[in-house]
Amino acid sequence: MDALMAVIDQIQADRITFAASGNVSVRDPRHPDRFWITPSGVAWPHITYDDLVALSVETGTVLDGRLKPSTEWRFHRTLYARHDWIGGVVHLHSRYATIFSTLGEPIKPVHYQMARVAYQVPVVPYETYGTPALAEAVGTVIDKDCQAALLANHGLVAVGDTVAKAYQYAQEIEWMADIYYHARLLGTPRILTVEEIEKVRDQFAQYGQTP
Ligand SMILES: [Zn+2]
Repeated sequence: MDALMAVIDQIQADRITFAASGNVSVRDPRHPDRFWITPSGVAWPHITYDDLVALSVETGTVLDGRLKPSTEWRFHRTLYARHDWIGGVVHLHSRYATIFSTLGEPIKPVHYQMARVAYQVPVVPYETYGTPALAEAVGTVIDKDCQAALLANHGLVAVGDTVAKAYQYAQEIEWMADIYYHARLLGTPRILTVEEIEKVRDQFAQYGQTP
């Protein structure tokens, strides 16, 4: 759960969301059939290790922890249950992603960095927060080719094989939403094509320090 606490610290340092809005979780590396999530209604600066809550991936039952889990535990559970490669889930009410969510507009690929996460970030239709209907809607959209989505009139969700990766994707999407928003104030940004994004994906596969 150190990885989860590190992301909680980073969310505060980055000031990417406010007060108690948003929630993050990590699949337990020793027990892949459970995940740890932030508690309900505790502001980010006050969350400690002892506040985290463990739930069963299969049933959503609380297995460990003294507080109530985040009200959004259902969509976290659905994502872990449907995709065994998902190791972490990050949900934020970050400014620019949330603006696009209120317009019901996907974040289009105006920058090549989008290739890491999806072709574009789609919008999950509006459902009341915390409901099984929202969990089902999120579960339908997220997969390996689409590791982030906007929740209409709500915010952003991103996943990854680790919680650090899920947070990195959330940051990248928030940054791209900021660029897209401002580009549209000045004119009509060019949208990258599927082929252009696929070429970047091929290059990302070879990027970095690994031989
Ligand atoms: Zn939310």
